[in-house]
Amino acid sequence: MIALHGIRKAFRDGDRVLTVLDGLDLEVAGGEMVAVVGPSGSGKSTLLYLVGGLDADFEGEATVAGRSLRALGERERARFRNREVGFVFQSFNLLPALTALENACLPSWFGADLGEQAAGSRGREVLSRVGLTDSTHKRPAHLSGGQRQRVAIARALFAGPRILLADEPTGNLDAATGEEIIRLFADLAGGGITVLVVTHEERVSRAASRVLRLEEGRLR
Ligand code: ADP
Ligand code: MG
Repeated sequence: MIALHGIRKAFRDGDRVLTVLDGLDLEVAGGEMVAVVGPSGSGKSTLLYLVGGLDADFEGEATVAGRSLRALGERERARFRNREVGFVFQSFNLLPALTALENACLPSWFGADLGEQAAGSRGREVLSRVGLTDSTHKRPAHLSGGQRQRVAIARALFAGPRILLADEPTGNLDAATGEEIIRLFADLAGGGITVLVVTHEERVSRAASRVLRLEEGRLR
């Protein structure tokens, strides 16, 4: 589902070049939950953005959900991001003025060809998939951290992606709530969704089918 070979990614800052990924290889099969651990600054977010088609400025071969990422044009890449992958972030990134249901339905505003009713029913479906059936009318400020992350995961699932990419998804949660969210990811992987989660927390990796360490620009 994810195949990376010889990935090299560098940031240029004036004359200075910072090589973050340096000949990185990664293969993730469908339905696997793989954790990538590594200290802050090791390139975990950079790797995730690359896999998710947010960043096309890299060297090497990246095939994700059957698409060679560097061969995609801007529009195809946007479509890939909207349909094939779902992103989950540490800070939830929910819109404060919208209810849980409206937040979960946000992807329908970006090109999913759904009417309002169909979007609402899809929103309720993904919220129920993440264990939220009450509180769907509440705004983020009235939800717990765990509930907010569930809404964010529901939003990531809205378009039916085959891959979930999670960047430190338990970083803003207490230990017990973090465990619940990690179990939810493992459960989604059990249902066939491929999960790539990056974290510096060991507890996250325990639920993964594989744990890889990002060190000096490579996984080991
Ligand atoms: P992690 O997520 O593991 O903490 P990142 O992938 O965010 O690490 O960053 C890896 C390295 O790349 C860091 O040294 C960071 O400062 C640098 N970096 C990340 N994004 C950029 C950018 N847009 N421009 C310049 N340097 C960047
Ligand atoms: Mg990061």
